[in-house]
Amino acid sequence: MSERFDLLVIGGGSGGLAHAQRAAEYGANAAVVEHGPLGGTCVNVGCVPKKIMWYAAHYAHQLHHATDYGYDVAARGGHDWAALKVRRDAYVKRLNDIYAGNLDKRGVTYVAGNARFLDAHTVDVDGRQYRADRIVIATGGHPIVPNIEGAELGITSDGFFELNELPKRVIIAGSGYIAVELAGIFHGLGSETHMVVRRDGVLRGFDEMLGRELNREIQESGITLATGVIPAAVRKEVGGLVLTAADGREFGPVDALVWAIGRAPNTATLDLGKAGVNTDERGFVITDDLQQTSVDNIQALGDVTGRAALTPVAIAAGRRLADRLYGGMDGRHLDYQLIPTVVFSHPTIGTVGMTEAEARSEYGDDIRIYTSSFTPMFYALGVDKKRSAMKLITAGPHERVVGIHLFGDGADEMLQGFAVAMRMGATKKDFDDTVAIHPTSAEEVVTMR
Ligand SMILES: Cc1cc2nc3c(=O)[nH]c(=O)nc-3n(C[C@H](O)[C@H](O)[C@H](O)COP(=O)(O)OP(=O)(O)OC[C@H]3O[C@@H](n4cnc5c(N)ncnc54)[C@H](O)[C@@H]3O)c2cc1C
Repeated sequence: MSERFDLLVIGGGSGGLAHAQRAAEYGANAAVVEHGPLGGTCVNVGCVPKKIMWYAAHYAHQLHHATDYGYDVAARGGHDWAALKVRRDAYVKRLNDIYAGNLDKRGVTYVAGNARFLDAHTVDVDGRQYRADRIVIATGGHPIVPNIEGAELGITSDGFFELNELPKRVIIAGSGYIAVELAGIFHGLGSETHMVVRRDGVLRGFDEMLGRELNREIQESGITLATGVIPAAVRKEVGGLVLTAADGREFGPVDALVWAIGRAPNTATLDLGKAGVNTDERGFVITDDLQQTSVDNIQALGDVTGRAALTPVAIAAGRRLADRLYGGMDGRHLDYQLIPTVVFSHPTIGTVGMTEAEARSEYGDDIRIYTSSFTPMFYALGVDKKRSAMKLITAGPHERVVGIHLFGDGADEMLQGFAVAMRMGATKKDFDDTVAIHPTSAEEVVTMR
């Protein structure tokens, strides 16, 4: 005997929960299968606990400047990582419970267990069978570990959230946003922090200005950054872990080594072949603009599709899919263009639209670049000053803004409103005609010449 639903969602993370709940609001009889805690990556081992840790490191930075403002406080020392972890984990647990409550309120059935396909309409969850008219794959992804000797001695971002104490010395291997964010947290809280990257710096897919500024800031802050490092082996010595690179260089010993070298989709154990769902060579589920897979009654969304792996993207894709399939909004789908993104580095980065290189390849010479570099007023009274930098890219005769790249304190909170303006097709003249807010860093975005 199998239970039957209109909709079965595999994965109770950002996208899966958003889709199931919205579908249920339209009257669908929906169920969510989840084998871990509700909320998925973002709530348990991603955005949420990461931002808590970022706040902690940010505090350390603020304390460092407190004397500039007349306070008599020690900038470092006395931070209790273990106590912070207890508070953070309790907050995450509260969120898990809220998510369970939300499913309950909307009448969505929560099935705890590990799902795999039996056919296009049937899923096995730990020996029980569930049938559904439609099945949505929202299983997210997991961090990759390199296939080298001793790799298991390191941890990933998942392991970062399990650490009960601050490692005194740490190596972060990787150059993407997660690597940069974790390095900033460790450094801010007092670890001797080393980054090793395969190429020539961090954030390579971002606008060149952002990478350049962050590479500079990372090194000025005291984090070491070794480039051209292809990890070859890890070994444990009395003094700690040592990473050997393919060219023979050695890094360490350290107390913790964190792999932040990318993520892979959670599809290996889903038996997608039994349902006929196609994946690409890396295992990501192939979807079209409407989140449709190769099988009529199966859709996929979020990180498992390999597109813009961000929580609001998964949520928006999930809600729009429900609007289309259950809410009568024909053709409604997520537009993957102009997705604003923030990197919670120290200082932060905000970016939306094209990089300069992308704009040049799309519009050739028909672009204009505006830049600004300045020291925010916050640093005016001290000696340790952090720079901010901004870039605005416009295209065409009307100078439509096609890229905004912000580096500096407050960039994270600054970007959202400008992203709205860009979606509405704002031009440089619209920016120029907007009265600045003074004294802020954001005013630079509307006063660049
Ligand atoms: C360290 C880190 C920091 C991040 N920071 C940010 C940030 O600041 N901002 C941002 O927007 N994004 C951030 N992200 C990305 C964000 O977490 C993801 O984009 C988002 O969680 C994707 O949602 P999802 O629903 O696609 O997948 P997930 O949230 O990963 O949910 C998938 C769920 O499916 C479950 N599952 C998988 N396989 C099965 C199965 N066979 N049976 C049952 N259940 C299954 C998993 O347990 C998981 O709960 C971060 C990620 C990481 C790792």
